[in-house]
Amino acid sequence: MRIVDRFRTQQKPCFGFEFFPAKTPKAQENLDRTVEKLTALAPDFVTVTFGAGGSTREGSRQLAARLKQEKGLEVIAYFAGYGLGPPEISEALGGYSEHGVENILVVRGDPPRDPAFRPHAESMVYASDLLEYIRPRYAFCLGAAGYPEGHLQAESPDRDADFLKRKVDLGAEYIITNYFYDNRYFFDYVERCRARGVTVPILPGVMPILNLKLAESIAATCGASIPEPVRTKLAAIPEEDKKASADFGIELGERQCRELLAAGVPGILFYTMDRWESVSEIVNRLRAGGLL
Ligand SMILES: Cc1cc2nc3c(=O)[nH]c(=O)nc-3n(C[C@H](O)[C@H](O)[C@H](O)COP(=O)(O)OP(=O)(O)OC[C@H]3O[C@@H](n4cnc5c(N)ncnc54)[C@H](O)[C@@H]3O)c2cc1C
Repeated sequence: MRIVDRFRTQQKPCFGFEFFPAKTPKAQENLDRTVEKLTALAPDFVTVTFGAGGSTREGSRQLAARLKQEKGLEVIAYFAGYGLGPPEISEALGGYSEHGVENILVVRGDPPRDPAFRPHAESMVYASDLLEYIRPRYAFCLGAAGYPEGHLQAESPDRDADFLKRKVDLGAEYIITNYFYDNRYFFDYVERCRARGVTVPILPGVMPILNLKLAESIAATCGASIPEPVRTKLAAIPEEDKKASADFGIELGERQCRELLAAGVPGILFYTMDRWESVSEIVNRLRAGGLL
C-alpha cells in the first residue's frame, strides 16, 4: 500500500516503529525480540534504516523483506544516498522492489565513517537531487526527512524549510521528522512548511529518553536539543537508577504524544533504537486513552 493513502484516509492517527538492521549476533537477538514485541501492537507501518554509504544495504533489505513478507507489515524503507551513484541506487531500490516494498523515504545521509569509502563520481549532493533522480524512474511512494529544530548544517530554520519545499516539489509525498523534546519546535516547523505551500502529511518522530548520557550523545549528532527543565530533572536521577530515567522518558514521551495527537497529527513514528520497553508502554497508554 502507498503509505501516504493511509496517512490521509485513516480515521485514527497512524503509528509506526523504526528499526535498524543488526550488525552482530547479539544485536540480532535483541532486534528479533523487539520486532516480536512491537509488531504485536499492530503498527500501521514500520520503517527500516539504511547505513551510510550503503553499509547496511543487505541487512536493510533482509529486514524490510522479513517485516513485509513474514509479518505482513507496511514497510517504509529509508534510502540514504550519500556518495552512491546510479548503479548503487538501482541495486538498493531494485532490491526493495523485488520484495514488494512500496514506500521509500529518501534521505541524503552523511559521510560514512569508513576511511576507504569513495563517493561515486555521479553521486548526488542533496536529498532533493536524489528525489529528482528517483521520482521518474520508480513507482515508489516517496517521503523525505524534516527537522523541527532545523538540520544541523542548515543556514537557518527558514532556509531549511525552503529546501523541504523543494523536496516536496521534486516528489516527496509525506515527511517524517527528526525527534524533539519540546513540541513547540514541531508546531512552529509545520507552520513554516505550510507557509511555503507544503501540503503533504508531516509526521512527528518521537524518541523516548532512556537516560541523560545517551540522550545527550545522540542529540549532539542529530541536532535535537534537550530542554533545560528536562536536563535538570534527568540530571537529578542517579546514573545507576536506569528504571527512574526510563520512567521519566516514558512520561515525557506520553505527554508529547498526547499533545501532538490532540493537535491532529496524521500519525507518529516512534524511534525505537531497537528497544521495545518504553515505546510499547507509551503506545499502550495512548491506546488505553483511546488515542491510537
Ligand atoms: C526520518 C529520518 C530518517 C533518516 N534515516 C536515515 C537513514 O536511514 N540513514 C542515514 O544515514 N541517515 C538517516 N537520516 C539522517 C539524515 O541522512 C541526515 O540528517 C542527513 O544529514 C541529512 O539528510 P536529508 O535527507 O535531510 O538531507 P537534505 O535534505 O539534502 O539536507 C541536508 C542539508 O543541506 C541543506 N540543503 C538542502 N538542499 C540544499 C540546497 N539545494 N542548497 C543548499 N543547501 C541545501 C539542508 O538545509 C540541510 O542542512 C534520517 C533522518 C530522518 C529525520
